[in-house]
Amino acid sequence: MSKSDPINLAVVVPFFNEGPGAAAFLDRLRDALAVVERSGAVAPGWRVICVNDGSGDDTLAVLLQARRLEPRIAVIDLSRNFGKEYALTAGLDHADADAVVVMDGDGQHPPEMMGAMIAAWQEGNDVVYMVREARDVRGLHRLLRHLFYRLFSLASRTKLPAEAGDFRLMDRHVIAAIRQLPERTRFLKGIYSWVGFRQTGLVYREDARMRGQSHWRLSRLIGFAMDAFTAFSTLPLRIWSWIGAAVAGLSLLYGAWRVVRAIFWGIDVPGFETIVVSITFLGGMQLLSLGVLGSYIGRIFEEVKARPLYIVRRCYGLSEDLPQAANE
Ligand code: UDP
Ligand code: MG
Repeated sequence: MSKSDPINLAVVVPFFNEGPGAAAFLDRLRDALAVVERSGAVAPGWRVICVNDGSGDDTLAVLLQARRLEPRIAVIDLSRNFGKEYALTAGLDHADADAVVVMDGDGQHPPEMMGAMIAAWQEGNDVVYMVREARDVRGLHRLLRHLFYRLFSLASRTKLPAEAGDFRLMDRHVIAAIRQLPERTRFLKGIYSWVGFRQTGLVYREDARMRGQSHWRLSRLIGFAMDAFTAFSTLPLRIWSWIGAAVAGLSLLYGAWRVVRAIFWGIDVPGFETIVVSITFLGGMQLLSLGVLGSYIGRIFEEVKARPLYIVRRCYGLSEDLPQAANE
């Protein structure tokens, strides 16, 4: 099949407590799909895979109602809230198409960009990631985000395109590669980049949320950033050898200086501050490095338990013989 034929497209959308906006979003998405279908870019058999990530409101009912009106909308209902990365993983696992578009269900990612994304794919790119034009976020958020990207690029060989998120189009081969990464602590942004392939970026303007508010509080973002960091870098583990060597070297020098001093100027007993300072400083460093070890061991523990990434309660409109859990 040549890349200019109409493609089989699947769109994966996670929903968590998006009841008030989901119907309007799906209408908009369907309109956008009708446009690309009419232009001949997308075959009529497209799929929208909605993942209900354990919403506590009427999101599932809204999704099922949309499915009643448009059978090409399928729904995966997860057994509880697993988090966006896992909801997306569930959707990607169930997507069987030439290309898959991933976007948020809150209306912040304009589905009207799909035509341009498919065009970029037809030009031979395997991944078309969408770069946010401008973000109206508060100062602290921006500062921390900047810091995170700087540290991440220093500490990890995986390169993250800044301002690129989950909104993207991926080729079938890329999805297959992502499925081979079984890690439990999922940082999809890193995974997307790690798998490689020919990637290109398109700029889009992020809309305001249609309804409701963001699920990411600062504390959750910080936790996410720490997970991302430890998932793609071992620098926090390795750096302690260098710090340890530096401290040991310095204390040797200091010891030598004390000896020389004692020989030429005699011994003076007070030296109380040096002892206290070095004990507390070294103690602090040891605790810190233990904490770093602990966080990696915690990660190993999470991975060896080898739990599934998500549990599906029920699928609507997807072939039922598909695996119910991620790692079957
Ligand atoms: N989401 C999800 N599970 C969660 C949190 C969020 O599936 O635990 C979905 C949410 O419904 C939305 C998308 O992920 O479609 C992005 O969430 P949100 O708008 O809260 O994040 P932001 O746009 O602020 O990054
Ligand atoms: Mg959002």
